Amino acid sequence: MTELLANHVAGRWQTGQGPGSTLLDPVLGAPLVRVDATGLDLPAAFAFARETGGKALRALSHAQRAKLLADVAAVLQANRDAYYAISTANSGTVKNDTAVDVDGGIYTLSQYAKWGAALGNDRHLIDGSAVVLAKDGAFQSQHIQVPTRGVALFINAFNFPSWGLWEKAAPALLSGVPVIVKPATATAWLTQRMVKDVIDAGVLPPGALSIICGSSAGLMDQLQPMDVVSFTGSADTAATIRSHTAITRHSVRSNIEADSVNCALLLPGHAADSDAVALLAREVAREMTVKSGQKCTAIRRVLVPQALYDSVAQAIGAQLAKTTVGNPRNEAVRMGSLVSRAQYDSVQQGLRQLLTQTSALHDGRANALIDADPAIAACAQPVLLGTQDPDGHALVHDIEVFGPVATLMPYRDLEHGLTLAHRGQGSLVCSIYGDDASALATAANDLAASHGRVHIVSPDVAKLHSGHGNVMPQSQHGGPGRAGGGAELGGLRALDFYHRKSAIQAAPRVLQALNQSAEA
Ligand code: NAP
Repeated sequence: MTELLANHVAGRWQTGQGPGSTLLDPVLGAPLVRVDATGLDLPAAFAFARETGGKALRALSHAQRAKLLADVAAVLQANRDAYYAISTANSGTVKNDTAVDVDGGIYTLSQYAKWGAALGNDRHLIDGSAVVLAKDGAFQSQHIQVPTRGVALFINAFNFPSWGLWEKAAPALLSGVPVIVKPATATAWLTQRMVKDVIDAGVLPPGALSIICGSSAGLMDQLQPMDVVSFTGSADTAATIRSHTAITRHSVRSNIEADSVNCALLLPGHAADSDAVALLAREVAREMTVKSGQKCTAIRRVLVPQALYDSVAQAIGAQLAKTTVGNPRNEAVRMGSLVSRAQYDSVQQGLRQLLTQTSALHDGRANALIDADPAIAACAQPVLLGTQDPDGHALVHDIEVFGPVATLMPYRDLEHGLTLAHRGQGSLVCSIYGDDASALATAANDLAASHGRVHIVSPDVAKLHSGHGNVMPQSQHGGPGRAGGGAELGGLRALDFYHRKSAIQAAPRVLQALNQSAEA
């Protein structure tokens, strides 16, 4: 029998009372560990986080909370090798892909630690300047933000067991709000180990960080009006969360990051052998293959001028042909596996659906896996699809195949290209490729309306840009419409979600005292 991982709630480690769910190695099919949350006293768990954890965090200044983040980052850095081993075993990732998750999480924590230190001794945030409400300024209004007196519940997706926790926990803890994380079951091991290391190191106050692994049953029922919930996952589960009475009746604030059919757009006016085409091809291939395409930000649709359709297909295909797929423990492998056999089946099913309206322009599926049994391993080869009818073939704008799959499509003129980009109905990110600053800026302005982030790749940033799909803590993560309507990160803007805003109306001397008390 494999080890049953413990949950950390109400300030102590507690194992579930049921048999649990077994987590598997997606390449070898071997059982690894089990998780279970049966029988946990959830009301007590949430109350402890709210009362004990919340009170302790709110008593600290921003600079002191920032120090906590730096301490958490140091603990994680010291145990990094163990996380790489767990990620290889449970997520099937090669080292570069593990880095996106593990090192990306540590980097985000460190970044918030720096920003938080700069906030100094404040405990609440002054929001804008005071405005006059009465003659001679004798009575004024000043907005402030104070940490919400509740808990932040994170329900996370399987693809980022590390970064998915820390990118949310960093702004929450810095705001003074305790965290309860429920990782996706398939890859919960890494999240659990990281939380265990941080708790065991004693760097956070009791109740500041809790983890519940296994079923999500009953979690939403615990939420009270001052709590917040941040969900990352599929649009279907997002709809269930949104319709819960905690949100519909008690106004629990929610942030939803759901699926997204992101695109890359090559502007008109470039030759087949131009830098713009080369940069687009490289980025599309990279996005399709990093983490086996299991990134919510990955490029799913590629929009190019009609005349370049064939040459772009060839350029992307040439890049994909270099991708070796299989067991991530083998040095020759560049792309590991999907997180589970269930995800493999889901990707094949999505691919079959898209193939009813597209054809394969590059199809790696006949290639042999390296060091992996295709009957067991959840390894998927990259497939570039194409359609000459992007207007009529609606599925390509609708189905997110969460694997190494993207679809190339031609546009007639720029207006048509932009229209197709907007058909994602709200996405996390689009990238634009070209050289003319004015044309790039005009297209960015247009696409910003339906994309949480617009990433512009011109030859002068070829070696410097941060990558279409890489989520940087400095920039907003989240998109409108189908992408969930959420907004995370973006520097200190992320703290807004964990605060309550209030307008304080008073005499100037009281507002002055309020400003000073922020620094008490
Ligand atoms: P999922 O099935 O919706 O699961 C997400 C999380 O919700 C898991 O922790 C899951 O727990 C939990 N859950 C399932 N049913 C629930 C319910 N009724 N109430 C409360 N929680 C529930 O999504 P997934 O398959 O793990 O993730 C893949 C999807 O996430 C993709 O569509 C991808 O686009 C999206 N994603 C988006 C972002 C973003 O930032 N926008 C980032 C990553 C992924 P169990 O695992 O225990 O079922």
